[in-house]
Amino acid sequence: MFGIYIHVPFCAKICDYCDFRVMPANSKLFEEYSSLLEREIRAFNAAHPEALSQARTLYLGGGTPSILPSACLERIFAVLKDCCVRVDSLDEVSMEFNPESCTEESVQTALACGVRRFSLGLQTFSQSLLDRIGRRHTVERGFDALRRLTSIPRAKVTGDLMFDLPGQTVDSFLSDVDRLSDFPLGHLSFYGLNVGERTRLGGRVSRGEETVDDSLYEPMYLGGVEILEKKGFARYEVSNFAKLGDESIHNVNYWNRGEYIGFGPGAHSFFKGRRFCAPEMYPRWREYVNVGAPDSLLTYDELNDDDILTERVWLSLRQRSGLDLNTLKSDGIVVSPESYQPWVDKGFATVDGGVLKLQGRGWIFMDSVVTDVLNACSRK
Ligand code: SF4
Repeated sequence: MFGIYIHVPFCAKICDYCDFRVMPANSKLFEEYSSLLEREIRAFNAAHPEALSQARTLYLGGGTPSILPSACLERIFAVLKDCCVRVDSLDEVSMEFNPESCTEESVQTALACGVRRFSLGLQTFSQSLLDRIGRRHTVERGFDALRRLTSIPRAKVTGDLMFDLPGQTVDSFLSDVDRLSDFPLGHLSFYGLNVGERTRLGGRVSRGEETVDDSLYEPMYLGGVEILEKKGFARYEVSNFAKLGDESIHNVNYWNRGEYIGFGPGAHSFFKGRRFCAPEMYPRWREYVNVGAPDSLLTYDELNDDDILTERVWLSLRQRSGLDLNTLKSDGIVVSPESYQPWVDKGFATVDGGVLKLQGRGWIFMDSVVTDVLNACSRK
């Protein structure tokens, strides 16, 4: 499997908790950005003329892709098509939307370009929490966007929520999950807040002006899972839930260590066995594209055998499909049962047909299970 990722680095406003590669939207840059992106895509296509036609998925993420003017979005898709990406026959074409820019025009443009899966960043249906984490949109705009997207015939829609926010109660989060899953969508994700030190929220937490109650993480996560399972959503990854057939093909490819190429500032790629990323700061990325997007200006993350094993274990255990111990064994890697048996004995994991899978509260302890397994791997 091969996927294409387009990184749109602009947001209407930087949220207080944001730790991503984004910048405040500046309409003067949209034209330049789409022009640079075009040159970056064409440079890659010239160097690897067979690659882009092999793509099965396309994902526009950010940042806020829905903030782009129609002409920029149309240009990006036109370039991709010109570089042999068969947009109309891809298995999945996804685009992230934020409620404040989920307008009739942005949706219609995306549909006309070939987007068929819409990912909406809602985070919470509590206005006081939206304000507290510095989100731009209102609850009402969130519902408007949901109604707009879920009324598109045959479109796939997913919504994102966050939990363990400062001041959030368990009941408030579970109500969010309940309300979102009542909409006619086939996919939903929720993520626990990770407070980055360099963020505005991180500053408030370190000064003691805000607190995050970590003890609420478990009841929120497990309660959310329970609600979704009752409504027919299955967890196929630690934070992702789907009705049958609505799993994200693009993201599953990431977790299966499939290949993908990323375009845009700081976009990551995994191509021909190497992980690399483009310059992250917009001015540096502009320079990189202006000199022809040479490989020498990419940052490579060279993977040794231990890095690859860590990726395999970590990416497998976070998925419903689990870690296939037999496949590892056939690759010369033996995992001592002493590492996972205590988790199995507690009911936090199962081993069935040589596949180790998390279950129940085990999902809360995923990082610990991964560490234990990695510490018990040996090569034959
Ligand atoms: S919308 Fe997302 S990417 Fe943009 S600032 Fe907020 S958290 Fe960051």
